[in-house]
Amino acid sequence: MSEIKAYGAEVVGASLKEIAIKRRDVLAKDVKIKIIYCGICHSDIHFVNNDWGMSVYPVIPGHEIIGKVVEVGKEVTKFKKDDWVGVGCLVDSCRTCASCKDHLEQYCENGFVGTYGGTDKYLGGPTFGGYSEMIVVDEDFVLSIPENLDIKAVAPLLCAGITTYSPLMHWKVKKGDKVGVIGLGGLGHMGIKFAHALGAHVVMITTSPEKAQDAKKLGADEVLISKDEKAMEAQMGTFDFLLNTVPVRHDINPYLMLLKRDATMVMVGAIEPIDPVHSGLLVLGRKTVAGSLIGGIKETQEMLDFCGKHNIVSDVEMINMQDVNQAYKRVQSSDVKYRFVIEMDSLRQS
Ligand code: NAP
Ligand code: ZN
Ligand code: ZN
Repeated sequence: MSEIKAYGAEVVGASLKEIAIKRRDVLAKDVKIKIIYCGICHSDIHFVNNDWGMSVYPVIPGHEIIGKVVEVGKEVTKFKKDDWVGVGCLVDSCRTCASCKDHLEQYCENGFVGTYGGTDKYLGGPTFGGYSEMIVVDEDFVLSIPENLDIKAVAPLLCAGITTYSPLMHWKVKKGDKVGVIGLGGLGHMGIKFAHALGAHVVMITTSPEKAQDAKKLGADEVLISKDEKAMEAQMGTFDFLLNTVPVRHDINPYLMLLKRDATMVMVGAIEPIDPVHSGLLVLGRKTVAGSLIGGIKETQEMLDFCGKHNIVSDVEMINMQDVNQAYKRVQSSDVKYRFVIEMDSLRQS
């Protein structure tokens, strides 16, 4: 067991500060990773604030982890010292249930082990995430990184990337489909990039008119301002698919009106009660509201390989660990372009 530096919240809603945590020694199938970069996901903020009622303190957030392998256990076959690797939202699952057998560990029927806030079966207490110097993870939950990509901009792919890629795959979004991405933040900007790469006609649906130019640079064909009722009305019944990344409770009825017959809106943002839905908006047009949680390990690797092939990474703003509380405030006021990534050497050197 080793003690290392981490950054986290000791009680609900607290500012993040340096906290010492323990990591297990490397077991036969483990990979020990020196963390070099870690993205800031809006879920990190939800966990610090216990928005979903499942946080265990201290919370050490971080599930968009990029690092270098420093040690491998004796049975590890996929990785070796000095490899660049990634860790996303999952570090373990039961591996025996139907979901695990279908490579859908995120829906493990016995409960997956989250990178943070899960139950640490080795050391007890909660698992601790990537706002830390180092992590030890079973090789089956470690991802390979395509060599051609800008490594610091790969970090957000481990959550924002897979969370948007997976529903586009599951609902078979294809060339020519009209796809709306709701909310231009970390997830939204990846949603635009993937939908564009799949050949869809992409509409960025945003509350922030000032983001219109960026949305087009990211690959949107059109921008729809959701507060503009006339503009929303003009696009009624025209969308094949909507990806809703809004992080808080909100009224989805105006978005349902945008869907074509038989079309689906997938919720990935608000994991909490939402405002009442007028079921007439579903009945008249056989429409669906669905949800989706990150993606399994196999699909996450496929997503990374897709990014390697299409040269897709996130647009990132690099910060030091000590700037994290300020970054959280900016994410909460929708002022992020489009993902913060922490240089983890700043924690090592503090
Ligand atoms: P983010 O960077 O903060 O982006 C969210 C965007 O939503 C904002 O930039 C803003 O875009 C829009 N928005 C914010 N408040 C809004 C409101 N009241 N009404 C309408 N639009 C609003 O967040 P993120 O990291 O992309 O995460 C988004 C959500 O997904 C979070 O709740 C996160 O916890 C969740 N999440 C879920 C999964 C999953 O597996 N399902 C995985 C990762 C994250 P505009 O300025 O363009 O309107
Ligand atoms: Zn996340
Ligand atoms: Zn399982």
